[in-house]
Amino acid sequence: MVTLAVAEGKHADFPSWKRAFSTLAPDLDVIWWEDALQTPQNVEYLLVWQPEHGLAARFANLCAILCVGAGVDHLLADPHWPHDVPLVRMGGQETAALMEEYVTWACLSLLRETRTWAWQQERRIFHRKLVTRTAATTTVGIMGMGHLGTQVARRLRDFGFQVRGWSRRRRELAGVRSFAGQAELADFLSGADILVSLLPNTPRTRDMIDADLLSRLPRGAALVNVGRGEQVCEDALLAALGRGHLSGAVLDVFREEPLSPDSALWDHPAVTISPHAASEASRAEQAAYMVQVIHEIERGGTPALLYNAERGY
Ligand code: NDP
Repeated sequence: MVTLAVAEGKHADFPSWKRAFSTLAPDLDVIWWEDALQTPQNVEYLLVWQPEHGLAARFANLCAILCVGAGVDHLLADPHWPHDVPLVRMGGQETAALMEEYVTWACLSLLRETRTWAWQQERRIFHRKLVTRTAATTTVGIMGMGHLGTQVARRLRDFGFQVRGWSRRRRELAGVRSFAGQAELADFLSGADILVSLLPNTPRTRDMIDADLLSRLPRGAALVNVGRGEQVCEDALLAALGRGHLSGAVLDVFREEPLSPDSALWDHPAVTISPHAASEASRAEQAAYMVQVIHEIERGGTPALLYNAERGY
């Protein structure tokens, strides 16, 4: 019997985890982290999202830590984090599908300026401004062509957008123009009508979307941020929107979450805000993914979405 302790966060819905795992893997002993601390040496897998600092280090015999999110930057801020234990990021088809659909929706809503329609509707204004741009004449540039970025690129390409991707190492994908590294960043940006960030939060990507980067986009370009809020300098974004260099932004992630009620982003007529809701798989899908990962590790395999300390993501 393999033991999994659930430490998703203080207010986690433990019964729903228990139910999901009991149908998928009856051989898995699933326990709440506070109970698990009675005999921490018996715990082989720890499932986390926002555990208290120091908690993970109290389990000395872990085979792996499984994160319910694809981004793990917040976990590594724990000064006692057990860096020697493999850390597996969230994946699975539903996570990718949700992200693909969110980004497709965001790109279409920028093309059709639906933020303006919402603003007008609130005021009962029936004003028509014709839009002549289509997906076929719009280039979406994706920063971060990893697990999610490549699947989003495929979906946008199949929808009919022109797609280009930028990453550290070159990622070749049929029908998608590939750019790599700092040397090709300016060229990548110069042709992106909509810039999508699907980068992880690392020291190198923090503050990356600043005034200089935004100025390299074509005039009238737009931003979709589903990576992490720390990547965007909000003052620079507001300034670029203010002078019309950028035409709009769809933001799902923020430096501070929840976004402060005082943030100037809330009222901006060209900014659409969602509450870090782009992609969170259902409990059944999350549990199915975790079971698949545990079985893979138990068979001596290496899960695909393993955090790599050298790369920082
Ligand atoms: P991956 O680790 O699979 O992909 C990361 C990509 O970013 C890779 O292509 C990598 O390049 C690239 N990259 C990293 N650092 C740099 C850099 N300095 N310069 C250029 N490229 C860089 O991550 P995922 O695709 O699984 O997830 C991406 C992020 O999406 C997560 O970290 C998370 O922050 C965010 N996310 C947000 C969600 C939401 O609901 N808003 C939900 C899920 C994820 P290379 O290919 O060369 O390694």
